[in-house]
Amino acid sequence: MQRTFTRLLSLALLGSLAASCAKEETVAPTAPAAAVQHQDATATRDNHLALGNPSGASTSTSYYWNYLMVKSQFAMSYHRDRGTPNWVSWHLSSAWVGSTPRQDNFAPDNALPSGWYRPTSTSYSGSGFDRGHNCPSADRTGSVADNSATFLMSNMIPQAPNNNQRTWANLENYCRTLVSAGNEVYVIMGSYGKGGTGSNGYHTTLDQGRVTVPARIWKVVVVLPNGSSDASRVTSSTRVIAIDTPNDNSLNSSWGTYRTTVDAIEQATGYDLLSAVSSSVQSVVEARVDNGPTS
Ligand code: MN
Ligand code: MN
Repeated sequence: MQRTFTRLLSLALLGSLAASCAKEETVAPTAPAAAVQHQDATATRDNHLALGNPSGASTSTSYYWNYLMVKSQFAMSYHRDRGTPNWVSWHLSSAWVGSTPRQDNFAPDNALPSGWYRPTSTSYSGSGFDRGHNCPSADRTGSVADNSATFLMSNMIPQAPNNNQRTWANLENYCRTLVSAGNEVYVIMGSYGKGGTGSNGYHTTLDQGRVTVPARIWKVVVVLPNGSSDASRVTSSTRVIAIDTPNDNSLNSSWGTYRTTVDAIEQATGYDLLSAVSSSVQSVVEARVDNGPTS
């Protein structure tokens, strides 16, 4: 009898726990005092390149393979002949998040130099690859202008649907979970190599050769509690997540599977990530594989 009662009690407790977890998706969770204090640190919109310009990208049009574009919503190195960014870097805090709905207004980027091919909303049509955002739509919901900027084709790569819609979406959601908990994060996403497998098989290019399908897609996430002077607040104990995934529709949906070191991504790309962070801190955080929670 007592055992039955205990079991009923634990079932009831589990039930209320499940209910409160489900509630957290729409209602801000009640946090303990310390966490509240954290969340009270003002979230700001910070410099997208505060942690560095990984490839030394330049606004000179002679840098057609490493062309720097800085928008108010994100910064990138664009490659004219790949028709994609090499990397996109952006700051994410709750100051960027609002209630603007997804605009879905894919468009050519008219900020690309005149005479350069500008991928269009239909450049990927029928290819078996998604128009995969680098800076995600859901990270820029403060205004229609902010959200629309993420739909510029310069922010896209041909991404295998299962990579984009599962693995990548899971990590993007997790980053916003970290932001909801009172953190700001710096995200750098990039791609390299040539040839991927989407839902229509293996391809090296799309759009009559004007857009290159990358072989690998990576992301580096630096997590800081809300605050200022961010580059100088990165220490050897700062959480840095690095993943490198194949652009292949058969990949695993769990992003944690693809964790690697920043050093490995630097080696594969030739970039210097987090170059604005002191070299002694870089040497520690860039050599470590994250083993923190993944959701
Ligand atoms: Mn900051
Ligand atoms: Mn580095």
